[in-house]
Amino acid sequence: MLFSCKQVSEHLSDHVDDELPPRKRWMLRLHLLMCPPCARVEHSLRRTLGALEALGRELGQDESGKRPDSGA
Ligand SMILES: [Zn+2]
Repeated sequence: MLFSCKQVSEHLSDHVDDELPPRKRWMLRLHLLMCPPCARVEHSLRRTLGALEALGRELGQDESGKRPDSGA
């Protein structure tokens, strides 16, 4: 049985973090293939997480002394 849109939204952050067991991941991906609205939600969630990760890396670099504007 496929996930409903509600189930997809409940599991989506785990899916984006790759923390779902393979069977659930499959059902979720099948749903995303057939349900453009949920696919859009997944896409924007990935973008948000990617931006947060990039921001975290930048802040980490900042603290380790690699400041791009420290040469002035
Ligand atoms: Zn859906």
